[in-house]
Amino acid sequence: MTGLVQAGGIPRSALEAAGRALAAESARFAGMGWMRGTSGNLSVVLTRDPLRLAVTVSGLDKGELTSGDVVVVDERGRAVPDQPNPDLPPSAEAALHARIAAHAGADAIVHVHCMAAVLAGHWYPDGLPLRDLEMLKGIGRKAHDETVTIPVVPNSQDMDEIAAAWEPRWDGQVPAFIVARHGMYAWGRDLTQARHHTEIVEFLMTFASETRPGGSVGAR
Ligand SMILES: [Zn+2]
Repeated sequence: MTGLVQAGGIPRSALEAAGRALAAESARFAGMGWMRGTSGNLSVVLTRDPLRLAVTVSGLDKGELTSGDVVVVDERGRAVPDQPNPDLPPSAEAALHARIAAHAGADAIVHVHCMAAVLAGHWYPDGLPLRDLEMLKGIGRKAHDETVTIPVVPNSQDMDEIAAAWEPRWDGQVPAFIVARHGMYAWGRDLTQARHHTEIVEFLMTFASETRPGGSVGAR
């Protein structure tokens, strides 16, 4: 049946549902001020074998996306043929989404340019250490007696470089990392959990920057 199956075997209804969910989540993040300009992108895994993700299109206001503003990409972040938006170029960052989906087993990935990530990466370039905070439970860690490190990796326009820097710094558990002078990635089993992880890590990054030795709170 014409139009029933698109994007390499992915049902049109599944792609539309993914697009709706991505647009709704993007609007929430835009409302938080974490996707300023046209920055940031979100993705969900559509299939694992072969790996296919639905990624928000680049260059559009993330507060105004519709269910059709989505591109299907492969394991290298390349747009696959035979999809509703074959002419829309996916963000270059789609390649990193695909690497995170493959390496961390993430089913939904959030990338935002929130200021808290840029500040935390500035103050803690070797990784953000956190401990004895109740909110650590929100990313599956203990609230006491455990140091959790959120990796910080150098920025690059080459997604393979960022991925190669993140993978050896990652403990296999923390569902997020910071890209210095750029933003953050967080992920989860679905978009809701990925959002919760993003919110919690943003809270933790803000706390760490505000309470850093010699920082704004300590200096007053
Ligand atoms: Zn970015």
